[in-house]
Amino acid sequence: MIVETRAVEPFLKNGYVLGCEETREGVLIDPGDEVEDLLEAARQHQLDIRYILLTHAHLDHITGVGRAKNALNVPVGLHEADNFLYRAVRQQGMAFGYPVDEQPPVDFFYKGDEPLRFGKYSVWVRHTPGHCSGGVCLEVGRDDRPERVLVVGDTLFAGSIGRTDLPGGDTATLLRSIHEVLLAFPDDTVVYSGHGRPTTIGHERRTNPFLTATNFS
Ligand SMILES: [Zn+2]
Ligand SMILES: [Zn+2]
Repeated sequence: MIVETRAVEPFLKNGYVLGCEETREGVLIDPGDEVEDLLEAARQHQLDIRYILLTHAHLDHITGVGRAKNALNVPVGLHEADNFLYRAVRQQGMAFGYPVDEQPPVDFFYKGDEPLRFGKYSVWVRHTPGHCSGGVCLEVGRDDRPERVLVVGDTLFAGSIGRTDLPGGDTATLLRSIHEVLLAFPDDTVVYSGHGRPTTIGHERRTNPFLTATNFS
């Protein structure tokens, strides 16, 4: 699978381009202020982007949606429980002292078990609330192979977990999401987070100080 990551100041939030190496179809994930870099990466790989997918609707993950949609004209997906945050993007910006533009409406809300498709790959959307109400992780895999990668937004980081002090955040809910959804994957599953470097499920299971048994309530 083609995986490209870009991040820019001030949030250093990771936006992703995933692509099928055979069919050149792809998806754009969490376009923020680095959106032009993501679009350039998609062009360099000659990818035909099928969807813009959002892991959640915090400011840093959505400020590039409008520019991505203008460039690509493809549907934007979000979990419905985060739509109030998405629609309040300008208020979110004001709270951070960071003016942002209104973003175009979301085109569809995630539902059911039916995967989204790009080329030979499927994307299953797993609801993982806790960092916010509508947080999801994207489970991505090739149809003819068992391995999966996880694009987890701000639910899990290398060595840390998402903050839970913003509206809709709840630590017990976040830990439950991580244990029940993410840690159910095999140790060699690669994890792409909303901030920082990639990791694996096994590395976090063994070393993440937030995921020891005593912290799981
Ligand atoms: Zn967030
Ligand atoms: Zn973030």
